[in-house]
Formats: sequence, structure tokens, C-alpha cells
Amino acid sequence: MILIAGAGPTGLTLAVDLARRGVPVRVVDKADRHFVGSRGKGLQPRTLEVLADLGVLDAVRAAGAPYPLLRMHGPNGHDDRPMFEPGEAEPWMLGQGEFEAILRAKLAEHGVRVELGAELTEFTQDGDGVTAVVGGTEIRADYLIGADGGRSFVRKRLGVAFVGHPVDQLTMVIADVTSRGLDRDRWHLWPQARPTMIGMCPLPGGTDRFQLMMGITAEPSETSSEISEDYLRAALHERTGRTDVTLTDPTWTSIYRSNARMVDRYRIGRVLLAGDAAHVHPPTGGQGLNTGVQDAYNLGWKLAAVLNGAPGALLDTYEEERLPIAADVLGLSTELLGKNIRREDGGFKRGKETQQLHLTYRGSSLARGEHGGDRVPGVFGPGFTLLALGSQCPADAVAAPELREHYGCDFVLVRPDGHVGVSTDDLADVQNYLAITS
Ligand SMILES: Cc1cc2nc3c(=O)[nH]c(=O)nc-3n(C[C@H](O)[C@H](O)[C@H](O)COP(=O)(O)OP(=O)(O)OC[C@H]3O[C@@H](n4cnc5c(N)ncnc54)[C@H](O)[C@@H]3O)c2cc1C
Repeated sequence: MILIAGAGPTGLTLAVDLARRGVPVRVVDKADRHFVGSRGKGLQPRTLEVLADLGVLDAVRAAGAPYPLLRMHGPNGHDDRPMFEPGEAEPWMLGQGEFEAILRAKLAEHGVRVELGAELTEFTQDGDGVTAVVGGTEIRADYLIGADGGRSFVRKRLGVAFVGHPVDQLTMVIADVTSRGLDRDRWHLWPQARPTMIGMCPLPGGTDRFQLMMGITAEPSETSSEISEDYLRAALHERTGRTDVTLTDPTWTSIYRSNARMVDRYRIGRVLLAGDAAHVHPPTGGQGLNTGVQDAYNLGWKLAAVLNGAPGALLDTYEEERLPIAADVLGLSTELLGKNIRREDGGFKRGKETQQLHLTYRGSSLARGEHGGDRVPGVFGPGFTLLALGSQCPADAVAAPELREHYGCDFVLVRPDGHVGVSTDDLADVQNYLAITS
């Protein structure tokens, strides 16, 4: 059994991936109630591919909405800008709370329910498994996954360093509010507002809900844990000059100081870290949740394979593949945040670098052949897929007559997470690869 501590997007994605493979899994969360805020609200194109494979994309599409145009308000009026170049893959907007609810519903279809009010408070490990204490009760598991967020208990208990620093001076207030008076087909930003920027992003769902985001200058009165309705309304009116815009009913508020930190190890024996427990970074570029989802997607098939008899060393490739990606995401999101703060052009523009479609595991010990590690568009799990030139096609392979044109070889073995395992002309390479991964 796999024990997952933390039922955020990372833990839930991993749980769905394991459950659909028939792996016994328990998901425990210390919270008494499910999270309801909009927090990470942008699902990147690569994440949408993953969600299609997990069987939740239709629900995500139905509940969410495309990104609206940006409306930049300034002293002399406003102008509207697309965030993306025409024809580019675009992210999909859906509040994190709703996204988590969709994952929970899928998990329930697989017969697994999140255990709430179930805090992991202790664990030890030996050669055969992990003994964890959850809600005062001992649980024995084959592996423990710390998907328990930026303040991860699992990470601290392991003694794994969280190396990094706070980013710039930006402290943000984020809140879900009801508001009338602003067009709902625009993401409104007042980048030059004083003392700092403010934004109002319409949330999907056909309501009057917006996600308000604004910088604060960290005065003591502003960093109390209670950000009241009056405080938010006054800030909106003062910073935008739009006293006609209403603001009521803040259902979720958060004070947020950007950090760029990550671990230097993802695996200590039978305990692995994933998502924010392993890396946190500024929300600019909308990468955090997405990176956690893809940590989970990289790990799910490997855990399942190892439980089914694959060599345990397969799990080392999780860190090998995901750690460099986290390092890149830290750099990218920090750079975009800097551009926003300096009000530079490009700070709000999103392109290929944030879609996560280009991410590759090239250089990993699991990446073999010229194209090893690259993402293969449109080919997904849950198992391995062997693409083969028509004339060479073994019975269980998918005929791909244009393989040589695209990959310059006769066989491409696609891993369950949609990346090339091996590209080769020799079927024996495929068999060797399968021997170490399944
Ligand atoms: C203001 C804000 C805006 C953001 N915007 C974006 C965005 O646009 N796009 C994006 O991709 N990301 C965004 N993010 C980041 C995103 O919200 C996080 O990256 C994401 O929530 C991480 O998911 P997770 O599952 O790893 O951790 P979390 O969502 O933090 O979940 C961790 C879970 O673990 C539980 N837990 C903690 N300790 C224990 C314990 N000891 N035992 C049991 N359970 C425990 C917690 O209760 C929690 O439910 C934003 C974040 C913030 C704060």
C-alpha cells in the first residue's frame, strides 16, 4: 500500500494514477475540510494532457474557462492584450478547490476516499516499508509520499534541506470575492496602482466571483491573518479609483510571500517528496500546481512498477528527472516575477516556456537513444506503448509508418507518462528497457 500525506493537487493526482493501476493507496490530510479557494487557477497545456490520460479532462473543461484577455488599466484609460500568441496552446482556468474536487470524484470512482482530519505526525522506515502514525494510529505502508505542501512535515522529519530564499519584497494578498461593475470577460490589472499593483481575475463558473490579487507593503496592520471585507473593498477603491465596483463576501483569503526554495533530494529510501513539499516558487507563470501534478505523473507508474516487481532503483530516476525541472521552474517564475515588479513588457505575456510541453527528461538514465526523454504528443499510458515502422511491427506494437521521418529509427518505446523511453533500430534495446522498468 502507498500512503500519501496531503490531499492537494499533487497527492490527489498521484492517488488517481495509482488507483487506476490497481495499486492500494491511502490519502490522508490533516485538514478537517476540503480546500475551497481558487489559489492555483491555471492548468497548463501539458497538465491538460495528463488530465486527459487520468480521465478527468472533460470535467475540467466543463467546470473551467479559457483565459480572458488582459485589460491593463492606467492613468489614461485601458488597453486589452492577449496573454498568448494566436494558435499557441493555452492553459485552462479553473480554481484549485474545484480542480481538487474533480480529482476526488475520480478517486472515489476508483473506490478511494480522502481521509480528512488525519494528520501524519511520525514515521520510521526499514528495509520492507514505512510505519507511519496518522491521527494517533499506526499505519504500515510500502512507501510514504510527502505531498504535504510547502511546510512539509515529511520533508522536515527527513531532515532534507529546503534551499533558497524569499523572492523580492513582494507580499501578496489573494482573495476570492464577489464583485460587480467590471467586465467579466477581462482579467483586470492596474499595474501602476499605488502603493502596489492590484488585479481582479474573473473566476469560471457563471457567477460574480473574482480572484483579487494585490501587493501589500508589509505594514503590520496589513499582515494580520484577518483580511476583512472592508479592508479589501477600501483597497480596491483606493487603488483603482473605481468606487462603482462592488466587493463583498470574501470566501477565501491568503497572505502570501513568494519564496524560491527546493530540496536537493526527492527520495530517502521508502519516503519520497512531491509537489510543494519539494519546491516552492512565485506564482508568476502559473507553474506550481502544474509542476506538482507532473511530479505525481512521473512517480505514479514507477511506484506501480516497483510494487509489481521492477527494480527499486527505478524510483531513483524520479529525483533524477524531476529535480532539474524544479530548478528550471524556480528560475523561470522568479524571472517573470521580477519583470512584473519592474513593470517590464513581457512580465504578463505567456508563451512556450510556461506551457510545459517542451519539458524533456533527456539526459536521465532512463532516456535511451537519440530522442530518449522527449515528450511524445498524443501517446499516453497507462502502460508502455511501442511505436514501430509498419514492416517491423510486432504484434503488440502500434504501427507508425512515419516513425523514421520523425525519429530516424524503427522503434520508439513510449513510457507510461508519454515520454520516449528508448528510440532505436534494435528490438533488443526495447526488451532490455522493459526489463528495468516493468
Ligand atoms: C496565492 C497562490 C497562487 C498560486 N497560483 C498558482 C497558479 O496560478 N498556478 C499554479 O500552477 N500554481 C499556483 N500556486 C501554487 C499552487 O497552489 C501550489 O503549487 C499547489 O497547491 C501545490 O500542491 P500540493 O498538492 O503540492 O500542496 P498543497 O496544495 O499545499 O497541499 C498539501 C496538503 O497537505 C496537507 N498536509 C500538510 N501537512 C500534513 C500532515 N502532516 N499530514 C497530513 N496532511 C498534511 C495540507 O492540509 C494540504 O491539504 C499558487 C499558490 C498560491 C499560494
